[in-house]
Amino acid sequence: MNTFSALFLGTGTSVGVPVIGCKCKVCTSKNPKNNRLRSSIVFKSKNTTLLIDSGPDLRQQALRSNLTHIDAVLYTHCHLDHVAGFDELRAFCWNREDELPLFGNPETLAALERMHPWAFNSSVTHRGYIRPSKRPISKQFKIGDFNITSLAVEHGTVETHGYLLELPDSKKVAYISDLKSVKEESIEDLQNVDCLIIDGLRYADQPHPTHMSVEEACALGEKVSAKQVILTHLSHEVEHEEVNERTAAHISPAYDGLELNF
Ligand SMILES: [Zn+2]
Ligand SMILES: [Zn+2]
Ligand SMILES: [Zn+2]
Repeated sequence: MNTFSALFLGTGTSVGVPVIGCKCKVCTSKNPKNNRLRSSIVFKSKNTTLLIDSGPDLRQQALRSNLTHIDAVLYTHCHLDHVAGFDELRAFCWNREDELPLFGNPETLAALERMHPWAFNSSVTHRGYIRPSKRPISKQFKIGDFNITSLAVEHGTVETHGYLLELPDSKKVAYISDLKSVKEESIEDLQNVDCLIIDGLRYADQPHPTHMSVEEACALGEKVSAKQVILTHLSHEVEHEEVNERTAAHISPAYDGLELNF
């Protein structure tokens, strides 16, 4: 059986945890698992290192996890907590001859180009810039070793995708950091997923219009018979140990630096 790994670079919601100025028990917690940079993850197989999203904490995340090389970036959507670290991708371009492939839905790729026109201007050849290659996603596509299925989800007004990743003869892992619900057409793709990494912003007593609660995430795991559920994109309403206690044994919160092998 083929194997790959996942390294959580960040597991927090858009403002991160601690929240500026907040003195709540999670923001002041001594448990490092309650410190969350903005959500991002790296999937690594034998030949492929795939970064998902380039949030505002990318520089710090790369330094602390010794991430020095990526083969491609795969974007979920164009909210700033997932794209604002775009310029940090420069450091991953200096040592490569070819362009850095950026995969994402058309809305996200268009937003990246609008925000960083210099990087996408092919007449600019300055070596210090990112040299991106836009790769619009389809339903099924490949990035290096990974076979990927895009999962259409509802997340407010922004075109947003989660992804199902697998190698030939490997476990199936889904990463869906931002969603209120999975669109019906993508539910089937998630059936019997080995590991569902999913948005669990906060508890259901404070529902959010565009994010899943912990309870909604657990219900989705149940619906698709996920063998393991890992909650991410967590807010300061969610205390690490407490969510562990409130959920079933196969469900747990992610934390920055968590590494999983599949
Ligand atoms: Zn987000
Ligand atoms: Zn707080
Ligand atoms: Zn979002």
